[in-house]
Amino acid sequence: AVSIQGLCKWYGSVQVLHDVDLKVATGEKIVICGPSGSGKSTLIRCINGLESHHAGRIVANGVELDGRTRGLEAIRREVGMVFQSFNLFPHLTILENLTIAPMLVRGTRRREAEALAMNYLERVHIPEQARKFPLQLSGGQQQRVAIARALCMQPKIMLFDEPTSALDPEMIKEVLDVMLELADTGMTMLVVTHEMGFARTVADRVVFMADGRKVEEGAPNRIFDHPQTERAHAFFRQVL
Ligand code: ATP
Ligand code: MG
Repeated sequence: AVSIQGLCKWYGSVQVLHDVDLKVATGEKIVICGPSGSGKSTLIRCINGLESHHAGRIVANGVELDGRTRGLEAIRREVGMVFQSFNLFPHLTILENLTIAPMLVRGTRRREAEALAMNYLERVHIPEQARKFPLQLSGGQQQRVAIARALCMQPKIMLFDEPTSALDPEMIKEVLDVMLELADTGMTMLVVTHEMGFARTVADRVVFMADGRKVEEGAPNRIFDHPQTERAHAFFRQVL
């Protein structure tokens, strides 16, 4: 579970998050959307401590993120993240990409880490790619490796920042399908995406952000079909 209260963040003198409140129960799926620059990435990067915040509280799975190292280490065990750009290590094989963090950070033994990695590669449907290097894979396959890599740390919460927006159309579905399957396992998920079909199928709630504020939130059908603010109305008219 994640609890965010009164979250504020500045870049220099520019305030990019204004008093954001968000509660995510264990197993819940939240889709975050909104115009470019509205603070979606900043919000989810704060949740795993990639960005520090200046006011407010973030508690993820009982760990408070207050900028202290101990909180940070603990949070990164609990929270996995997948980015728009896959961020795989190009000089390591797929299997090595998946085993490096469990071995270095968790002290998992190689054989155990490899077994775990193969298990997750099967779950994202590409076990046959284990010995290849990232650039030998398609974008969709690389993104599925990135998801498997995050899962190898056995997180309780998964964050996704526009995981399909760098992909060619024919590869988007294979990544969304893996995310759907992950959702079915009961994973707690926060997903920044403009894939509204995915949001309708998976999201328990959709959060609409604009200008660093949470403007509206609600069940996908409610918020897409009956937005209550002009801002959300104008946005969904464009993306739906
Ligand atoms: P997009 O849809 O384009 O990904 P976003 O909703 O994810 O946008 P953020 O990336 O969170 O928006 O950015 C929110 C605001 O913070 C923007 O005004 C952006 O210019 C600013 N910003 C983001 N990262 C930095 C940074 N490292 N330094 C300074 N300003 C930043
Ligand atoms: Mg962003």
